[in-house]
Amino acid sequence: MGNLGPNFTDPSSPHAGEFQPLDHEEFRRQAHRVVDYIADYYKSIEEYSVLSQVKPGYLLASLPKTAPSEGQRFDEILGDVRRYIMPGLTHWVSPNFFGFFPATVSSAAFMGEMLCTAFNCVGFNWLASPAATELEMVVMDWLASMLKLPPSFMFSGMASVPLFSFSFLWTGGGVLQGTTSEAIICTLVAARDRAIEEIGPPDYHDYTSKLVVYGSDQTHSTFKKACQLVGIRPSNIRLIPTTAKSNFALSPLDLQKAIKADVAAGLVPLYLCATMGTTSTTAIDPLEQLVHVVTEYNIWVHVDAAYAGSACICPEFRHCLAGVERVDSLSLAPHKWLLSYLDCCCLWVKRPSLLVKSLSTNPEYLKNKLSESNSVVDYKDWQIGTGRRFRSLRLWLVLRSYGLENLQAHIRSDIGLARIFEDLVRSDSQFEIVAPANFGLVCFRLKGSESKRTEALNKELLEQVNSTGRAYITHTIAGGVYMLRFAVGSTLTKEHHVVAAWKVIKERAEIVLTTEDRNQIVNL
Ligand SMILES: *Cc1c(COP(=O)(O)O)cnc(C)c1O
Repeated sequence: MGNLGPNFTDPSSPHAGEFQPLDHEEFRRQAHRVVDYIADYYKSIEEYSVLSQVKPGYLLASLPKTAPSEGQRFDEILGDVRRYIMPGLTHWVSPNFFGFFPATVSSAAFMGEMLCTAFNCVGFNWLASPAATELEMVVMDWLASMLKLPPSFMFSGMASVPLFSFSFLWTGGGVLQGTTSEAIICTLVAARDRAIEEIGPPDYHDYTSKLVVYGSDQTHSTFKKACQLVGIRPSNIRLIPTTAKSNFALSPLDLQKAIKADVAAGLVPLYLCATMGTTSTTAIDPLEQLVHVVTEYNIWVHVDAAYAGSACICPEFRHCLAGVERVDSLSLAPHKWLLSYLDCCCLWVKRPSLLVKSLSTNPEYLKNKLSESNSVVDYKDWQIGTGRRFRSLRLWLVLRSYGLENLQAHIRSDIGLARIFEDLVRSDSQFEIVAPANFGLVCFRLKGSESKRTEALNKELLEQVNSTGRAYITHTIAGGVYMLRFAVGSTLTKEHHVVAAWKVIKERAEIVLTTEDRNQIVNL
């Protein structure tokens, strides 16, 4: 026996000789109980109000002000999860959750998450856990190939450029980020630094102040946040207005006009964030035409396909990504639609070397021969932070356990359920569909002739529906129109849940509408 570690046999300690934070038998006992608890939760999840009905501060008022000085029993803690935590949960896994976009889950991903947590590898570079880096490369290529992304986004794509095969950095590849926000920040930084370098030795600040970025008024707010963080001037962020007439898609012509005006004003176009499946209404920006517009300007084109990108594993939706071979990067979040639990956002880049250039650091304590020879991928240089979890296990388990066919069936089934909801709305003369339902999201509202009144009615309807706890929906405003969003796709949702949610909506609409409203709607 060499080093005995900290001395827990100190007789003055309250648990003299007992403290062992990872005793494998104790672990087994507790973990079995938690698994039972979770399985029971999933089984009875419909009994809970989907939207938590607690008031702000409810938990702060219930729990002690300080942590205990003596350890407490596991039973007691689990009991408090039931007592205090459960009421304050909004049940994202509930089959009656139709808000935002679903955050999908699966047994396979859960198993992957358990393994990830168990190994606790901090895989910042290859050597820190070779399996973590290489499995990530494998699953990123697998998913890229399921999506029919061009080889230029894949590690295995380097086979087609043998000249450069000595170094991973010359070819494309993918990385798992936590969220889309991180994916956009990383690519925007790479684009910024490329632009600064190309312009030559600089007055950095003067030059940065000239960089202009583009998106539409439907681009996710995470883009604006990324711009703030990366130092893009607020006045140089062009969020080009879209219209209901063009289904809220970014117009290539409007983009071209904006770029031309900026160039004429001496500004430098830097980055375009195109969206496949916007958050408000799942609008699809016309990638092929957009790429055509920007070719002559050396603009970094990123595609944000956080939610809808997953649908492209089905051949009938792949056309939504037409033109992707000419973009610089693409992000897609399997935690939204590919059953993989939070957090999991895939980012593919054509030239990871640009990410590495901007994001790499090489402190002495992380150095090793392999990293210095550039013969391995060190993922710390492809992301914001240094430490990283073994996230790829989750996706590996999902892709292997279900296979392409089941995953396609899962996407199609959700879209089928959304069609059922859409038909229910269309068959009712009091309601209307307000944006094309491209995937699993249906945007709808109570009709009305007077816009203020209509908005107020729909707001009231939303409140009413959510206060029942029997369904949860959210809203958005697009083109100045307040609308309700019904997002189908929570993993446990079946047809009868969709039909039941529609019944709740109908029932609450009867409460919200006055006789006068009803008469007006009839006359529309
Ligand atoms: C959900 C969503 C985001 C935000 O994703 P995070 O992973 O939470 O950063 C960005 N873009 C689109 C289109 C989304 O739907």
